[in-house]
Amino acid sequence: DLFHTVVVIGGGAGGIAVAASLKARKPDLDIALIEPADVHYYQPGWTMVGGGIFSPAVTARTMASLIPTGVCWIKDAVAAFEPDRNTVILEGHQTVRYDRLVVAPGLTLDWAGVAGLTETLGRNGVTSNYRYDLAPDTWELVQTLRAGRALFTQPPMPIKCAGAPQKAMYLSADHWLRQGRLKDIDVELYTVSPALFGVEDYVPALMTYVNRYDARLNFRHTLTRIDGPAKRAWFSRQTETGICETIETDFDMIHVVPPQQAPDFIRASPLADVAGWIAVDPASLRHARFPAIYALGDAIGASNAKTAAAARKQAPVVAHNLLVEMGHLRGAEVAYDGYGSCPLTVERGKILLAEFGYGGTLMPSFPAWLIDGTKLSRVAWLLKERMLPPLYWKAMLKGREWMAKPQRAERTA
Ligand code: FAD
Repeated sequence: DLFHTVVVIGGGAGGIAVAASLKARKPDLDIALIEPADVHYYQPGWTMVGGGIFSPAVTARTMASLIPTGVCWIKDAVAAFEPDRNTVILEGHQTVRYDRLVVAPGLTLDWAGVAGLTETLGRNGVTSNYRYDLAPDTWELVQTLRAGRALFTQPPMPIKCAGAPQKAMYLSADHWLRQGRLKDIDVELYTVSPALFGVEDYVPALMTYVNRYDARLNFRHTLTRIDGPAKRAWFSRQTETGICETIETDFDMIHVVPPQQAPDFIRASPLADVAGWIAVDPASLRHARFPAIYALGDAIGASNAKTAAAARKQAPVVAHNLLVEMGHLRGAEVAYDGYGSCPLTVERGKILLAEFGYGGTLMPSFPAWLIDGTKLSRVAWLLKERMLPPLYWKAMLKGREWMAKPQRAERTA
C-alpha cells in the first residue's frame, strides 16, 4: 500500500497544472501523480497541425519533463475508487491511499462509436485532428485534394473544444480558396447541433466565413457509419418534428470528430453523475458527495466548455480550495466561473476568440480595442500561434498563474 497526502489522477492539462499550482502554494506538500502515459500532448495545437501551421512535434513533450519537481510519479492507471476508504486501486492492483484526491483523467474518444471508422482512419480520405498521429494527415489530404466533396462532422455534445470540428473546415477551405480550388470542392459540415455555435454572439461572424467558403450546413445529423474503400458515409438525421431518417452520401475527404464520453473507470465509479461525468460543485470544484475529492478538466460534469483554457482557470481554484480546507492556507474559498475559450481559426491569420463562462456569459480577457471576441482578429491569431503555446508550457503547467487571475491568500506557518 502506498500513501500520499494529495493524490492527483492524470498528467494532462488539468493534472499537471493543479500539481504545479499546489506546489507553488505549498512547496513541501506530499503529492503523487498517477499517470500511465510517457507523453503529454498540447492538444489545442492539433488544429494548427491539421492546418499545416504547426509541426506535430511541437505539441508533444515527455511526461517526465512536465511533472513538477518534488511530485512523485506513479506510472500506472487508476482502475477503481474506494472513496469511503480514501483509496484508489491501480490497474497493477496496487492501492494508493490519500488525504485528498484530485481527479483529472480527461475524456475518452469513442472511435468505435461510428461503425467502420477505426478500420479506415488514416486511409481512404478519412482523417481527424483529434489524434496526434492523424492531424498531419488532415493537412496532407487538404493539400492533395483538387476537386470533389469534403465533409466535416461534429458528434453530440459535450465534446472537448466544441469549435474544433468547424475550425478544421475553415482552415481547409481557406487553403482551397487561396489555391483557386474551392470552386471545384463542395464543403459540408454535418453536426448534430441545431446551431453553428452554442453561444449566439459568435454566430454572425462565423456565418460570414460559411458564406465565403460556400459551405453547406447540415444540422441535426449524426455520423453513424462509414465505408472507407467505398467512400460513403451514413448519417442519422432527426427532423424538427422528431422523425429520424438515414442519409447516405459520398465523400472524397472526411474529417471526423468521434463521439466522446467520460472514461469507463469514472462512469463505473461512485464519483459519476447520471451522465457518467464526475459530479462536482460547479463553483468550488469539490465533489458533490465526497468532500475529500476535487476534480477538474474534461471529465467533470459542469456545463463549462471542455477546453485547456478552462483547466487553466480551474487548477488554481482547486489548489486554493483544497489547501484552505486542509488548513494550509487562510482565507475564503474561491469559485470557478465557468470560463472556457475557443479560438476559432476562421482563416490563416484570423481568429474569432470565443471566451465565455457558465450560461454563455461572454468573458473577454482583453479590452475590446485589442481583441473584440465577437469580431475577427489578427491579434488573436498571433495569440494562438505565438503566445498560447508558451503560456501553456511555461506558465500554466508551471503553476504561474498570471493569466488565470490567481486568488491571493496568505500562507499559514
Ligand atoms: P487531458 O489533457 O486529455 O489529459 C488527461 C490525462 O489523464 C492523460 O494524460 C491520460 O493519459 C490520463 N489518464 C487517463 N486515464 C487515466 C487513468 N485511468 N489513470 C491515470 N491517468 C489517466 N482547448 C483549448 O483551450 N483551446 C483549444 O483551441 C483547443 N483545441 C483543441 C483541439 C483538439 C483537436 C483537441 C483534441 C482538443 C482541444 N482543446 C482545446 C481541448 C483541450 O486539449 C482539453 O480540454 C484539455 O487537454 C483537457 O485537459 P484534461 O487534463 O482534462 O485532459
